Amino acid sequence: MTTAVAPTLADLLAGAGVSLPQPETRPFIDGAYQEPSEGVDRAVTTPLTGEPIATVREGASDVDRAVAVARASFDDGRWAGLDPKARKATLLAFAQQLTAHTDELALLLSVDVGKPITQARIEVGAAAGCLTYYAESCDKVSGEVAPTRAGTLVTVTREPIGVVGAIVPWNYPLMLSAWKYAPALAAGNSVIIKPSERAPLAVLALGRLAAAAGIPAGVFNVVPGDGPGAGAQLALHPDVDKIAFTGSTAVGKKLLEYSGQSNMKAVSLECGGKSPSIVLADVPDLRRAAVLSARGAFFNQGEMCNAGTRIFVQREIVEEFSAALAEATAAEFTPGNPLDPATGLGALVDQAQLDRYDYYVRLGVEEGARVALGGARALPDSGGAFAEPTILVDATASMRVAREEIFAPVVVIIPFDDPEEAVAQANDSEYGLAAAVWTKDVAAAHRISGRLRAGTVYVNTINEADIVVPFGGFRQSGLGRDKSLHALDNYTELKTTWITID
Ligand code: NAD
Repeated sequence: MTTAVAPTLADLLAGAGVSLPQPETRPFIDGAYQEPSEGVDRAVTTPLTGEPIATVREGASDVDRAVAVARASFDDGRWAGLDPKARKATLLAFAQQLTAHTDELALLLSVDVGKPITQARIEVGAAAGCLTYYAESCDKVSGEVAPTRAGTLVTVTREPIGVVGAIVPWNYPLMLSAWKYAPALAAGNSVIIKPSERAPLAVLALGRLAAAAGIPAGVFNVVPGDGPGAGAQLALHPDVDKIAFTGSTAVGKKLLEYSGQSNMKAVSLECGGKSPSIVLADVPDLRRAAVLSARGAFFNQGEMCNAGTRIFVQREIVEEFSAALAEATAAEFTPGNPLDPATGLGALVDQAQLDRYDYYVRLGVEEGARVALGGARALPDSGGAFAEPTILVDATASMRVAREEIFAPVVVIIPFDDPEEAVAQANDSEYGLAAAVWTKDVAAAHRISGRLRAGTVYVNTINEADIVVPFGGFRQSGLGRDKSLHALDNYTELKTTWITID
């Protein structure tokens, strides 16, 4: 169902029967919100209507203040030295705080990022679930005794790295920051989160919840700011031991350089993607594949690193699949008011992202692709950043629109004859985050999934997610893995201790 977008945010909020409390914009440092230091004011606008909703002061020295208190909190052992059961109880309380504030956090996400309120609620649940998962690891993950020579006891234990800087993007602010601070805190580190300047409000709201949960002062900090300012300051800081990043490949590369220029801090990176999906003619259920592919491409307005945006379809079913994809997309992803629970496709994060959408749709057409669905801005009277979900057909693997990450609701369909050719083209990418293959043939599924160079390969499904499995990319999609117990490797050092017994 499409809902007309009303002219002002106040109208939209009133229509949804909700109110937006004044968002917190100050940095959360040393257990409390602090007045920001001298700096530059940045207006935060809502992509629902284009209206300003808050002003964030990006204080030049706030990163230094946060690093100093995080360092002190780590060095005196107020968190790392706690009984693991106490850390677990505190993190479980933090998860409960998130759950108890689902309405408020989801509304902030929806208004700041533009995502549909139902999807925003799912994101809050994912962040709370992530915290619960890593809280439980506190008193369950232990070290090893190495099988070495007689008369010697050798233990291999995990120790926290120290001060962790988490630099996160705007598309899933609460979930992606939780993927970092939850395992980092569970392992005993102190953290500083720098949210994206394009949508900082939901992450800034976390400070109050962390304090209410009893996380000691200095252990959990949030500092707003832009990338070249606050982000680089954190990544270059000699007292930061580790940077955990999600964002673009270009910035990921800079973070590796900053590490080399400063203290060789550990860096884990979750970067971009252009995930291929290969649909063979013997796809088990073409309609279902189309419905799932639409979700894989257009959930969260397509602003997903693992969006399945390069769909290779075997030539004999390309017409039927394209039509089914268009039908499924139109049924589930009509742009509308994000605060309406019936809306499937919200606003893009801002006008800059809408311009990027326009640019790539135009480019695709210039390159010779054909628009089979969408292709234009939506709800033009709203003042917001709405776009139609777009399917480009007759594309080729070499087109820029088929190679570059767009990060907006645009998919390309590329016909193929020989599955081997599709696999080669799927792998011909700088990225390697996720991939999918659809076929009834178990042998083909096994062979193709084995050859696809991606951190996650789906067979007859796409973009399933669970905190228990690792997530991350091959090649320039990243370094290291978020989620699962493997993520603890990002936040711990292994220590070997030799003890001579006799
Ligand atoms: P971005 O790289 O522009 O920004 C990400 C973060 O890095 C922001 O907080 C930004 O302020 C900061 N930053 C920018 N320049 C910096 C610098 N010089 N030093 C330090 N920090 C800096 O990315 P974005 O536009 O916010 O997000 C979209 C990108 O994120 C896409 O490429 C997408 O694929 C990627 N992403 C990846 C995953 C994943 O898990 N692999 C998940 C979501 C998004």
